[in-house]
Amino acid sequence: MNITVGIIGGGPAGLSAALYLRQIGVQAIVFEKSSNAEYRAGEHISPECKPLLQKLKIPESIVRDNAAPCYAVSGTWGDDKLFSNDSIFNVYGDGFILSRPDFDNALLVFAKSSGVVIKANMRVTDISKINEKWCIRYKGNTGNSAVLTDYILDASGKSTKNFNQLVTKKAKYDDLIGITCLCKDRRTRAPARASIHIEATKMGWWYTAIRRDNMLVATFMTDADIYRKNIEKEERLWECINTSINTKSIILKYKKIDKIFVSPAQSQMHTKMADDFFLAIGDAAWSVDPLSSQGIYNALSMGIDAAKSIFAHANGSVLALNEYQRKHTNLFYKYLSEKAYYYRLEKRWSENIFWHRRHAMNWMDIPIKIDPGSKVRANKKNIDINTIRPITPSIDFDLLLDIMENSPVASCAVLSYKKRAMTQVEDREVIVAIQELSSHSM
Ligand SMILES: Cc1cc2nc3c(=O)[nH]c(=O)nc-3n(C[C@H](O)[C@H](O)[C@H](O)COP(=O)(O)OP(=O)(O)OC[C@H]3O[C@@H](n4cnc5c(N)ncnc54)[C@H](O)[C@@H]3O)c2cc1C
Repeated sequence: MNITVGIIGGGPAGLSAALYLRQIGVQAIVFEKSSNAEYRAGEHISPECKPLLQKLKIPESIVRDNAAPCYAVSGTWGDDKLFSNDSIFNVYGDGFILSRPDFDNALLVFAKSSGVVIKANMRVTDISKINEKWCIRYKGNTGNSAVLTDYILDASGKSTKNFNQLVTKKAKYDDLIGITCLCKDRRTRAPARASIHIEATKMGWWYTAIRRDNMLVATFMTDADIYRKNIEKEERLWECINTSINTKSIILKYKKIDKIFVSPAQSQMHTKMADDFFLAIGDAAWSVDPLSSQGIYNALSMGIDAAKSIFAHANGSVLALNEYQRKHTNLFYKYLSEKAYYYRLEKRWSENIFWHRRHAMNWMDIPIKIDPGSKVRANKKNIDINTIRPITPSIDFDLLLDIMENSPVASCAVLSYKKRAMTQVEDREVIVAIQELSSHSM
């Protein structure tokens, strides 16, 4: 097929899309800004990824040489009793504990050998439309350059700049970050098989994994403001480690922390994942809490989905990109419900802000009481939008307050918002936002 797809980002999402596009005869160009030398978060690859890796024809050796088999996820969550989810009960068998930079690099080399054009160490700086084509501008050691493509996939991860010039909204559902302590193992031999350990504590939760290269990766998941207030200094981090039970005993075997990395880990969705010959994939489209261990799985499957959607669209299926958007919006909302379910299982520290935030309701579970025929009003002066924003994160409050200025009927306010909003949003989310704004104004 005579089209070219430019892919911004050579992580699991970008490379999955590129490999699948090659399989169906589409030219793919991947731009990757890093040299995959630095630490990258995301160690555990769930067993469910295996069929996706097979679909992408990724040789088993790429995983085997850069990972240790993971036979169980164990830990404490909800009470002090140790649980263990053994992979022997999973139809796909063991998962893997990856060394991410090495795995990502091996995938990049494999994609190149499969015919994908790789622009390594090249940062995309800008995209724009020139006639019917996308113009991708990029920068490397040798200077600036540009290339024209038919489609663009944004696979640049969760925290990079928004490449879609038309829409800028990312709905953020929390402010989770991961503080990763990398510790060197003093033993000489790597574990032949390893497990992941998770542990809920008062201010957040830990996961620990030992990589194939004997590095212990111990990550504390908490909110950015809690980190800044309580943990940022290394001695405070040790205080935090001391509040755990099993994690502490694992980390103490290593005596010292070699490096600390802080990574954003928020649950977030791009409210416009599909646009004019443009799709967002992987974390750039929607990102999940590491508790789910689904980030890499989602990245690989979205890459395949996006490649199929582009193929269908290029062959005349005009709704293919919209269908991609609808499917992934629904998957994200399904994920949010599952996330709430798991966090609500842990009730020991409900009064602590970290858990309190995760037990709070959002627009999906707040009952709708507002009468569609009633007039709605919002008193801008009385409202603290920051208390409502986490409940309805996709809403543009400037626009909604503007619409509610003249006390419209509730149903008209919803329609008017949907008509004027730059991004797609569910009716229910708009209704709950209106309900919250009017109740705070009374
Ligand atoms: C603390 C933490 C722990 C996690 N643990 C797990 C886990 O155990 N299991 C799991 O499945 N998931 C985990 N995740 C999530 C997982 O890491 C991500 O979901 C996954 O990496 C997403 O892949 P991606 O390809 O979408 O994005 P990324 O892996 O972020 O890749 C994006 C790529 O785009 C490149 N890029 C960005 N901007 C540009 C640009 N302008 N030009 C060129 N290149 C660019 C970047 O260099 C990067 O290589 C974890 C995440 C965090 C934060």
